[in-house]
Amino acid sequence: MDTEKIKRAVRMFIEGIGDDPDRSGLRQTPERVARMCQEIFAGIATDPQSVFRELLHEVHDEIVLVKNIPFYSMCEHHLLPFLGKAHVAYLPDGQRICGLSKVARLVEVHAKRLQLQERLTSEIADSLVQALQPRGVMVVVEAEHLCMTMRGVKAPGSRTVTSVVRGIFRENPATRAEVMALLRDQEA
Ligand SMILES: [Zn+2]
Repeated sequence: MDTEKIKRAVRMFIEGIGDDPDRSGLRQTPERVARMCQEIFAGIATDPQSVFRELLHEVHDEIVLVKNIPFYSMCEHHLLPFLGKAHVAYLPDGQRICGLSKVARLVEVHAKRLQLQERLTSEIADSLVQALQPRGVMVVVEAEHLCMTMRGVKAPGSRTVTSVVRGIFRENPATRAEVMALLRDQEA
């Protein structure tokens, strides 16, 4: 990441919106933003497949569902956060599973970029397909977009839900219904 470039850009941005980058409250802001970017965009330089370096070779052929994975991402259209929860389910191929924390880590790697919720959802699913070759994957993401709630339409509290299904969850309504039932469980 080019920290100096970020600092110059933030300074210009402050000038651009008509504020004074040299007033005391803003003097350290370019530096702070540059440091923050290292963290909130850490996913850009991370290969999602690196999350799966160690797989567990276990015989398991039931649905694995990791619910309520919190994430914070940045809308690439407005550079404002969108945040919420991801739910990730997969049906293993019978030989390969991954540690549950890896699923949360995968969500994080895809979230810490300039993103769109739709792409975040499908990228999580596709990375899981690539790493585990499971029989099916289903990813549901629910999020609040600050670009919707702070400006324009102003719909506070409104949530956007996206879902992606792959493999058997796409082809077989009964297995998909099983995941949906597991997801609903949590809300009760
Ligand atoms: Zn946006």
